[in-house]
Amino acid sequence: MERLNGKTILVGRSQQGNVLHINIAGINKVGVINRSVPGSVSRLNPAAHSAHLSLTIDASGNIKAQNLKDSNCTYVNHLEISSKVVMPNDVVELGKDHFQVAVQDILNAAKQLVPNPRSSDPEKSKPTYNVHHLFRVWNDYKEKCKDIQIRRTKAMRYQRLPMLFSMGGGALGIALATCFGESFKEFGGGISIIGFGLAIFFWLRDPTLTFTEEKEQLDKDMERMYLCPNPDCNKMLPLKDMDFILRQYDHKCPYCKCNYVDKH
Ligand SMILES: [Zn+2]
Repeated sequence: MERLNGKTILVGRSQQGNVLHINIAGINKVGVINRSVPGSVSRLNPAAHSAHLSLTIDASGNIKAQNLKDSNCTYVNHLEISSKVVMPNDVVELGKDHFQVAVQDILNAAKQLVPNPRSSDPEKSKPTYNVHHLFRVWNDYKEKCKDIQIRRTKAMRYQRLPMLFSMGGGALGIALATCFGESFKEFGGGISIIGFGLAIFFWLRDPTLTFTEEKEQLDKDMERMYLCPNPDCNKMLPLKDMDFILRQYDHKCPYCKCNYVDKH
């Protein structure tokens, strides 16, 4: 309750729709008291500081209700008021339709808008998590990426084979024919045909495709494993090594700001 001392709460109909909204002057947030509100309740416009009703709480916690517009009316315990000291257990009625709302309900919703002074020091209240296992997760990932890269390079080398056969076969045929006579030209042609066969074979089972799939699977696995250990967060960390993340984000989760340590 003390949290609200010195604050002014504005109460009125939402700017769109018919929900009861509240706002505290100087706090850029709107609270919802979720009920359907009749049109006789004036709208709340925090930017313009206009509303149907205000509750001003002084330093001692006394609450003063004030009807903010001459064109609307407010009742407290069934009596019309322009301004009146109220208690938390009073009921205010807004507009000619006597829309009822308990002062306590307004205070409860307003408290949600004011940061709790005990948790206002975010550094102290943030939990700490050991991220040692994430170093291993990252290293495994890097290792597997490298392995895929090596196998892909090898496969690409084999893929160049048919071309060598085709070109080499033609050249060999000509060379053989020059040295040993026309009948040897067939030999080179045979090699070219082998090259053509290999080309079809490699084309049918393009290994670069499986590498792409493997890499995609690897990245999917990281989406499951490379996570902030805070169960309330659990967001995937940037795809960078842990040393970089710890340095870049000051030993904190980039999302929930919980603290990270690397302990064995
Ligand atoms: Zn986090």
